[in-house]
Amino acid sequence: MKRLQAEIIAVGTELLLGQIANTNAQWISSQLADMGIDVYYHHTVGDNFKRLKQVINLAKERSNLIIVTGGLGPTEDDLTKEAAAAVLHKKLYEHQETLKEIETFFNKNQIPMTENNRKQAQVFEEAIIFPNHEGMAPGMFVETDETGWIFLPGVPREMKHLMLDHVIPFLHKQYKLQHHIASKVLRFIGIGESSLETKLSDLMKSQSNPTIAPLANEGEVTLRLTAKSDSKTECHHLISNLEEEVMKRVGKYCYGTDNDTIENTVFKLLKKNHYTISSAESLTGGKFIESLISLPGASSVVSGSIVSYGTDIKKDVLHVSQETIEQHGTVSEPCAREMALNIQQLMNTDVGISFTGNAGPDPSEGKPVGTVFIGLKIKGQPVEVKEYHFYGSREHIRSRTVKKGFELLYKKLK
Ligand code: ATP
Ligand code: MG
Repeated sequence: MKRLQAEIIAVGTELLLGQIANTNAQWISSQLADMGIDVYYHHTVGDNFKRLKQVINLAKERSNLIIVTGGLGPTEDDLTKEAAAAVLHKKLYEHQETLKEIETFFNKNQIPMTENNRKQAQVFEEAIIFPNHEGMAPGMFVETDETGWIFLPGVPREMKHLMLDHVIPFLHKQYKLQHHIASKVLRFIGIGESSLETKLSDLMKSQSNPTIAPLANEGEVTLRLTAKSDSKTECHHLISNLEEEVMKRVGKYCYGTDNDTIENTVFKLLKKNHYTISSAESLTGGKFIESLISLPGASSVVSGSIVSYGTDIKKDVLHVSQETIEQHGTVSEPCAREMALNIQQLMNTDVGISFTGNAGPDPSEGKPVGTVFIGLKIKGQPVEVKEYHFYGSREHIRSRTVKKGFELLYKKLK
């Protein structure tokens, strides 16, 4: 049999207007990926008869498994079946069992059934019907030539029920799917997406099985390695071979796998060293310490924090010297240095970390937006201060700063 090339068509003008996100396509895609089915296209089209027909025609030419969601409802603008009937030369007829279920639904809820609800009982001739226990319109499967068509309602709850309870088991049987799929996520920090890709460019270019998918997010890069095979053991074997090669080249930036987070990793390292930590936070406003406190067991590691946003607090509570503030300002290397040293002493912890900078939107003290200093004091070691220049919105700069703090700590503690 020809390899499956799937396409998802989402029907609904509200999708095109941006009123709702096309989460159905995303969800269905991830389900198909788990089954080892390749999805080549997502197509979104409004509730318009002519354009719906065009899209169905196009899908017929380029895909052999097409999943259509939306537009199976009772109203005038629900046109999916009518358009498909015209393109696929399939007749629609009233499916008596479905009609009975719809009537029962109305009786049970004591709502009068209207004539247009009969429309939802219309199905294609020769279709396999998937009964919908969450709503009215059933799902269905029809075949034309070499192509399989699946129609599902747009309401996400109904669509998921039909996929999980009917369509997925059906596809396994119909197409004798034997694929196993396994994936592993490798997590990196302290290396940009492009330099990571450069170091792996030959692997990235030649990838087919396993595939390597990079994803960059807020100062971190992840690589998802995905292998397909007829056997589970082979999947894992393929992944560990590739992983070994990747780690040879960029292993020193890898802080974890799968569900690890940099926060969690640093937390574990602090715990392992029996270290306590405190923070002095200006632009981050407590976000750093919050990330640690949100982890279960934080009390064994976290002592406390001072959100020293105002200059007075830096001076009066954190005891940053008048001289430092007058000569260098609060967004400065010496200020970060004193903040880190003083918080570590004030709270009597093993580690003290400080954050000061300008998150914008306006420059302050003549320092451009995005200028950030992070100070780090670890007991028995000299205090270290790093300067950074971040870009983007105020929120972005603040969260990048927190991430950077965790990265610095990770490098020190690992
Ligand atoms: P109904 O019987 O409710 O009319 P339907 O099959 O005709 O169902 P639509 O009318 O297209 O489906 O969509 C019903 C609702 O489902 C939409 O208002 C929207 O909230 C949600 N929905 C539809 N399509 C999608 C999609 N692709 N992604 C996420 N939500 C969707
Ligand atoms: Mg509808």
